[in-house]
Amino acid sequence: MSTQSTWKQIYPSIKTAVAYLEPIDLLLTQAVRTLAAFYQTDCLLWAGLETENPDSFQVYATSGARHFVTGRAVQQSLSPTELVLKDDLSLNDSFPAVWQIYPETLPEWLVTQQRLPQVTQLETGELIVPATHNGRLSADFTGSFSVGAVATSADSVRSLQLVLLLNRPLPSQATEAISKTDPADPASPQGWSLAEVESLEVVCSQLGLAYSALYWQQRLEQARRQASLVGRIVRLLNSNLNPDEIVGRIVAELGQGLNCDRCILIDLRSTPPSILAAWEHPDQQLPPLERQVDLTRWQSVIDVFIQDGVSYLEVEQDGINSDPLQDWLHAIGAVSALIVPLFIQAEFFGAVSLLSYQSDKVYQLDELQTIRQVADQAAIALTNAQHYQSLWHKQEALRMQNNSVQLEIVRDDLTQLMNRRSLERELEQFSTKAVWAVQEDFCVIILDIDYFKLVNDTYGHSVGDEVLQHLAQRLQRQLRKETAIYRYDGEEFVVLLAETTLTEAVDVAERLRQAIRAAPMKTSAGEISITASFGIAQQNSAQDRNAWDVLQRANRALDHAKRQGRDRVKTL
Ligand code: GH3
Ligand code: MG
Ligand code: MG
Repeated sequence: MSTQSTWKQIYPSIKTAVAYLEPIDLLLTQAVRTLAAFYQTDCLLWAGLETENPDSFQVYATSGARHFVTGRAVQQSLSPTELVLKDDLSLNDSFPAVWQIYPETLPEWLVTQQRLPQVTQLETGELIVPATHNGRLSADFTGSFSVGAVATSADSVRSLQLVLLLNRPLPSQATEAISKTDPADPASPQGWSLAEVESLEVVCSQLGLAYSALYWQQRLEQARRQASLVGRIVRLLNSNLNPDEIVGRIVAELGQGLNCDRCILIDLRSTPPSILAAWEHPDQQLPPLERQVDLTRWQSVIDVFIQDGVSYLEVEQDGINSDPLQDWLHAIGAVSALIVPLFIQAEFFGAVSLLSYQSDKVYQLDELQTIRQVADQAAIALTNAQHYQSLWHKQEALRMQNNSVQLEIVRDDLTQLMNRRSLERELEQFSTKAVWAVQEDFCVIILDIDYFKLVNDTYGHSVGDEVLQHLAQRLQRQLRKETAIYRYDGEEFVVLLAETTLTEAVDVAERLRQAIRAAPMKTSAGEISITASFGIAQQNSAQDRNAWDVLQRANRALDHAKRQGRDRVKTL
């Protein structure tokens, strides 16, 4: 068989693969299939040797050649779990199926090839043909930079790209390197003719070139995709979406971009910890996740991140669920997880976790770098959320001032204070998951006029209205322009204070209380003195699920103030 005819057979699939940037898998699968059919024998191609990363070793083999992966004896065939079936679709019966196998270690024959790549025939008759980098170029390169050093031989710097192994059982027991200068008879007892060996060398070197071209194209493409992923996230941060949407989009971009089944962002600082954002692969029917996370499972992870300064953790299920995190993986039905910590302004906040449900996904170094970068961006999004609330509120307040149409909708007719609907919208904003998780010192003040029924009963309802109008103005004057007062109900008012401690909130309430009782209200029925009672609550993540819960607790504090004699401020 001539080099020409072998090459004619194998060339079209290689050419197509390179021209259309087909996956390496396809190229190598086709090559194995074509060679196996052409030589009517078992065939194996070992790839991923350039990367020096055992995780990226891959072998494409027909079933009879699989045992060469582990170097085990033929009869000890591999158990099915050790093999990952890549391609079992035979084009027709004469084309053997090709398996993709992920070996953990290198067999002896391959180690030998790494040291000195050369065409070799094993005593069992297998022919090994390596594809290597251009040794001469590397040697020149080395030589020009190592003046005075011993020149490195071309052979020793040749590095392996691929190794092809063809199986042709032999009667002979000889093991020897086939020398090209050896004028071997085409029908030599070794079973491989020199012409065959030469043509296989050509095929293998062409395959090596095609493989390298595809490999680097794919690496470039991957780097480009990851750069554009980071770019999209930076643009997201600059958009005027609300923080929940931004954080939601970040986990979606990560999940899609890195091809996992589910991506979640967990707030591990709150009690109990909870999932702030989640993305799931649309084609997957994944079991639902509970929003709340069990802290006991995560405490060890938090410790590792904080104490050991670890930048990521990979968890795989191994059946023994001794570790609480593995236990968690098992509980949610996932196979593996990558967990990357999130720090907000140097403080531990939580983690981004990429979960795989189908197969144990291995992340490449550049993917890990991307995840880290994106996690940092997510931290920025959450930091922004801290400032978002007050900014949103200030913008809103300005918009209200400038927009008379809005005035009717958001303000209360009688007092011109913000109405109840506005309060609801504001509480909603404070309760968005991202804002809720990161905001600090959020307080609610609620006040209720003391014995107001009496005012109505004594002077009439319209005088009561006048009192409410005066009171509204007086309250507003005590507060900063951007701090809104809401008419919550009849003669009950609410003030929401972001970034305010409980002590500060008490000061605000005391100021309001004093302002009310300091002087009587001038009404058409004469001067009327009133007092009011105040309840205050501060956000407490152990008790409050959202801003409504804080308001409810402020209401309870107000009850206490009333029961204890009115005209006073109570906190809860
Ligand atoms: P206290 O709060 O100290 O327990 O006594 P109160 O008399 O103020 O009792 P409560 O807060 O329950 O009563 C609220 C009263 O406020 C009832 C209602 O007549 C009056 N009110 C509610 N809205 C208006 C309004 O828009 N105008 C007037 N004039 N009165 C109102
Ligand atoms: Mg009331
Ligand atoms: Mg009242």
